[in-house]
Amino acid sequence: MVEPKVWKRRFAIVGFDDAASIRTAGDYTQTLFMALVVDSFVMGPFQSNCYVVRSERGAGEAVVIDPGDDPTPLRLELAGMGARTGAILVTHTDVDHIGGVAALAEGTGSEVWAPSGEVDALKNGLTRGGMRVAPHDPEHVVNGGDAVSVAGITFDVVDVPGHSAGHVAFHADGHLFSGDLLFAGSVGRVDLAGGDWDTLLASVRSLLDGFPGATIVHPGHGPATTLERELQTNPFLRDLRTEGI
Ligand SMILES: [Zn+2]
Repeated sequence: MVEPKVWKRRFAIVGFDDAASIRTAGDYTQTLFMALVVDSFVMGPFQSNCYVVRSERGAGEAVVIDPGDDPTPLRLELAGMGARTGAILVTHTDVDHIGGVAALAEGTGSEVWAPSGEVDALKNGLTRGGMRVAPHDPEHVVNGGDAVSVAGITFDVVDVPGHSAGHVAFHADGHLFSGDLLFAGSVGRVDLAGGDWDTLLASVRSLLDGFPGATIVHPGHGPATTLERELQTNPFLRDLRTEGI
């Protein structure tokens, strides 16, 4: 488990950025994790989040998580950052998370890491929802418990089935990329093939058991949140609150 680093600092009021950096005036204790830089890009008609993760601002390589649509605008952004695509990670293989994988991989020469449990959809270019995507045979398959070290960052792979059967999340330095398992105020749908409500709830429970509440959740859709915030406020997690996790 990664322990947060704690700094004591004095800040002016600069507003509320996101779950990770709520800043106030005066002396206070700010709890931050290591300085990963996470940028999100909303892609395509399903408005899915594609994440660009760098070990630090100015890093020459970036990890791209779930490029779900045409990656051309993303590549322009990356060029503007001065970063090349060092790796492509896939949480699950629904169309809005893999729609841009082949184009980005082939356009950049980057390798792809995809979950073993549902890699066939990416290989075959046909998702469980019956959607066609450009196929790509990923260079690596991952399972829960694996560690993926790319672009100077080590991601732990966590099995989080429920929205889909082979869904994984990636965790690095207090940042959890949760795909369509858990959203701010909601959870992923479970009505497609491989989806299961009890399994989803068990996966969320395992995250709450396994990671600090301050862990920042970067979901597949919508804004970032934290595990603690979702435990306290997410209406779909009422049963977990009752359990007293
Ligand atoms: Zn999905």
